[in-house]
Amino acid sequence: MSRPELRLSSRRLAWNIAAVRDRIAPSELMMVLKDDAYGHGLTWAVETGVAAGIGWFGSYDVRSGVEIRRILGGHGRIFAWVTSTDDEIDAALRHDVDLGVGSAEYLARIVARARARGARARIHLKIDTGLHRNGLLPEEWDEALTVVRAAEADGAVELVGIWSHLAEASDAEDDDARRVFMDAVERSGTTGRVPEALHLTASAASWWRPELRGSVSRIGAFCYGIRSAEGPELEGIAPVAELVATVTAVHGDEATLALGSFDGLPSTLAGMTVGTPGGRRDLIRMGDVTSVVAGWPGMAVGDPVRVFGGGDHGESSATTLAERIDTVGEEILTRLTARVRRVIVD
Ligand SMILES: *Cc1c(COP(=O)(O)O)cnc(C)c1O
Repeated sequence: MSRPELRLSSRRLAWNIAAVRDRIAPSELMMVLKDDAYGHGLTWAVETGVAAGIGWFGSYDVRSGVEIRRILGGHGRIFAWVTSTDDEIDAALRHDVDLGVGSAEYLARIVARARARGARARIHLKIDTGLHRNGLLPEEWDEALTVVRAAEADGAVELVGIWSHLAEASDAEDDDARRVFMDAVERSGTTGRVPEALHLTASAASWWRPELRGSVSRIGAFCYGIRSAEGPELEGIAPVAELVATVTAVHGDEATLALGSFDGLPSTLAGMTVGTPGGRRDLIRMGDVTSVVAGWPGMAVGDPVRVFGGGDHGESSATTLAERIDTVGEEILTRLTARVRRVIVD
């Protein structure tokens, strides 16, 4: 039985990257690659990003940061922001991966590992601007800067960035977060050089709130053409991935597709519309490995059906599907399992 395909367009990814860059300039784009590049596949995403001239890559953990370094070779900057073990710190030092630092405890471990190895850690200090999800509190900031400047003096670290993450719950809260952020940046300037990479915003705020952008913007979703849930379409941005399943049987006025919840699609998506060769149709039922879709004239075994993608054949986008079940488009892509074959189409 044929497996569904996630068809990836390198051209579309490059176009999206160009559109994002135009929009956010002069802020520099850090392409975010967490969760296997949002389910698209890390190697493909990095290679396409490099060809499009990306210089900053964002990875959640050190392990994928090291993988990105392997693909990149000596070029480009990689930022891994999750608090990591000492072994992972060692790997980051060996493979030139920048570390995001959101606690005094983690900072102390990084300084200790860098001193032990005679290496210099590139770090980005995180200020908690209100999300309370890892980050130094404003009252811890000066003490952390003291530790950083002392470690800089003996060559164990280099402060290359200050960052935070926005809640994006309301504009007013994000404005408050920016004030806390800018205060932290200013305080870094009273103790030494203000680092080059100041980054606060992800896709939505980078796109819609120019006044919040720093010198770098960490953007995942919009590069892959995933718009925000309940958010508008974006000019110049379209999905880079299309999920295509094949008709395996035809019965009366229904067609069976090789697609099911074992592929990672929530079965609660039954009722959604898909793009068939005869146009938009309802997906009636979803089982483990097969689904039933309302038929079309001339349907035949082997016909391709677009489950989600750019909408060219009447299918929905991943975000439109996500909205049906109260989640975000990223989740539809990252849930796809290894049964789904990733195929690069252009
Ligand atoms: C996921 C993530 C991003 C990117 O968010 P998008 O909305 O996909 O652009 C940026 N920064 C951090 C810390 C993240 O976890």
